[in-house]
Amino acid sequence: MSYQIAIDGPAGAGKSTIARALAKDLGLIYVDTGALYRAIGYYMYHNGISIDDDAAVIVALDGLRVSLAHVEGEQHVFVNDEDVSNRIRTPQISMAASKISAIPGVRAFLLNLQRDIAAAHSVVMDGRDIGTVILPNADVKIFLTASPESRAERRYKELVEKGESVTLDAVLADMKKRDYDDAHRAAAPLRKADDAVEVDTSALNLEQSIARMKEVVLENLPK
Ligand code: C5P
Repeated sequence: MSYQIAIDGPAGAGKSTIARALAKDLGLIYVDTGALYRAIGYYMYHNGISIDDDAAVIVALDGLRVSLAHVEGEQHVFVNDEDVSNRIRTPQISMAASKISAIPGVRAFLLNLQRDIAAAHSVVMDGRDIGTVILPNADVKIFLTASPESRAERRYKELVEKGESVTLDAVLADMKKRDYDDAHRAAAPLRKADDAVEVDTSALNLEQSIARMKEVVLENLPK
């Protein structure tokens, strides 16, 4: 029996940390689909392709290979066999990913890759359109949210720990812009699937968030 658990929500709601912990707990594979958009954003950014030029981005996708592999439970993302996993978590690449993710051809390019992984394994998959577009028949759908302020604060701490020089105000402004862009784009905008359970983590710490998610999954998994 294979399971599909779809987790969507805005940036910084704790999706990846919570989804990773949940997958480990349930013995499922964790798939972070944001890494795929980031990998493409990274490729464009480092090859001097303007992310404002949709046609140039589409041309550059031709012949590009993006893939995922799991090594000791950790997801790695590859662009043409180069492991870019450690280079895609910067504010520049966040913005580039958000930008190229609005291009329908980019979303189409990544659609089957995501569906194929979910067909081959039991997964906890997180993203923006997993419950609405990628896996509309997922066994459990969760829409994970938190207030913009609490999400910005968490992301700010993560970036500072990694040695990035940022301010909380800049992180909050970036986050609000990405939220707006993700929710207002024409192609697969971020929205809660009608049959998704909403979990708000603003007032929950990490353990409480994981426990709440696990509760929702176990309540909703087909018996
Ligand atoms: O989740 P993460 O912040 O890594 O995603 C980076 C960007 O990729 C998001 O801002 C969003 O625009 C885009 N994305 C998407 N669809 C997904 C996952 C991410 O459009 N399934």
